[in-house]
Amino acid sequence: MKALLLENIHPGAVRIFKAAGFKIDAVSHSPGKKMLTQMMEDVAVLGIRSKTRIGPDILQRAPNLSAIGAFCIGTEQIDLSACSAKGIPVFNAPYSNTRSVVEMALGEMIMLLRGVFDSSGSLHRGVWTKSAAGFHEIRGKRLGIIGYGNIGSQLSVLAESLGMEVVYYDVEEKLSLGNVRKVSLKELLRRSDVISVHVDGRESNRNLIGQREFAAMKKGVLFLNLSRGFVVDMEALARHIRKGRIRGAAVDVFPEEPESNKVPFVSSLQGLPNVILTPHVGGSTEEAQAGIGAFVAERIAAYFATGSTITSVNFPPYQPMGKTYLHRFAHIHENIPGMLARINDVFAQRNVNIAGQHLETRGAIGYAIIDVEGPCNEGILSDLEAIPGTIRVHLVY
Ligand code: NAD
Repeated sequence: MKALLLENIHPGAVRIFKAAGFKIDAVSHSPGKKMLTQMMEDVAVLGIRSKTRIGPDILQRAPNLSAIGAFCIGTEQIDLSACSAKGIPVFNAPYSNTRSVVEMALGEMIMLLRGVFDSSGSLHRGVWTKSAAGFHEIRGKRLGIIGYGNIGSQLSVLAESLGMEVVYYDVEEKLSLGNVRKVSLKELLRRSDVISVHVDGRESNRNLIGQREFAAMKKGVLFLNLSRGFVVDMEALARHIRKGRIRGAAVDVFPEEPESNKVPFVSSLQGLPNVILTPHVGGSTEEAQAGIGAFVAERIAAYFATGSTITSVNFPPYQPMGKTYLHRFAHIHENIPGMLARINDVFAQRNVNIAGQHLETRGAIGYAIIDVEGPCNEGILSDLEAIPGTIRVHLVY
């Protein structure tokens, strides 16, 4: 089986795929759509990062494609419904760069509280600025985290260990770690010394933090956004920094980001005091890249070896329980009534005893795992494929 890995995927992933028996074709860039369709004929696994777009046109030209690895966090570049309709699970790496983002946010809080970037800039220009006035320790300050997911909750753990008092606001019920408290957004805005935004990219979060929210913040607050650019009204942020209501900010994500390093970057935050601007690199570390490579490649190798779909973003979740039988079939089908009965009938007709079974559905598709003890012949596969509503059948082993 062939794995086509695009966009310079980490060598750790290549090692895992090779050990799982894949032949590798690795390309350092994202080929255009036309070129990619020509490359897909014999590809079983496609690995991409954020630049390659996958839609029905590519899938139609990929008759052997069985799994896609998004070696990144987001999967917006992939038409997930089209993948489900073709019985192709998509795996990503939702947590592999969490720690990298958290470390950067914490480091920036300390730099902002001490005005390090401004004093460093002054010294580079030959101006000595020694002073303690207005500079603070992080210890004892109240950190308000908006969005207590993977990143927000890990940030809370490390911030507490540095002596910060942490409160958070989330739209969902979450387990509060350590001594952290959930508060209303209003209280968080009004009482935090440092506010850090870590919400996800759902459309309703557009301009979540704008004029009204900045106006509600305590005077002298520090503000960080390392989540999504469109979540914050940048003009409103710039106005509040100019007025001195916000004492410093660290921004890693922008509503409009240059497509490449050759395109100039423009923002209303440029040139403002005590503002750290970074080019969407919160999660960009070599450790994160290695973690992403290993995580996605291992999930895909497990899918081929056992049928496991755990962490897939579009497939029903199936976690093998350890017990193995002689053969395992995976049946991917339209989520319609009577499927399990028809699958079982195929085995009963051929006098093959089902030793273990699992069915899970998600949206438009169902995923059935059937374990059998006895030997089975080719006919079972073709009978399963012939069931109306079948999308794809695998003999896992
Ligand atoms: P996550 O899905 O685990 O957590 C997001 C949390 O935000 C969830 O708990 C959700 O309930 C909450 N939420 C959503 N809307 C909210 C709202 N309006 N108010 C309060 N809470 C809300 O995501 P994550 O892995 O923690 O990532 C957080 C963000 O960081 C994402 O937007 C992600 O794209 C971004 N990110 C950025 C970088 C970078 O390089 N800067 C790297 C990784 C992730």
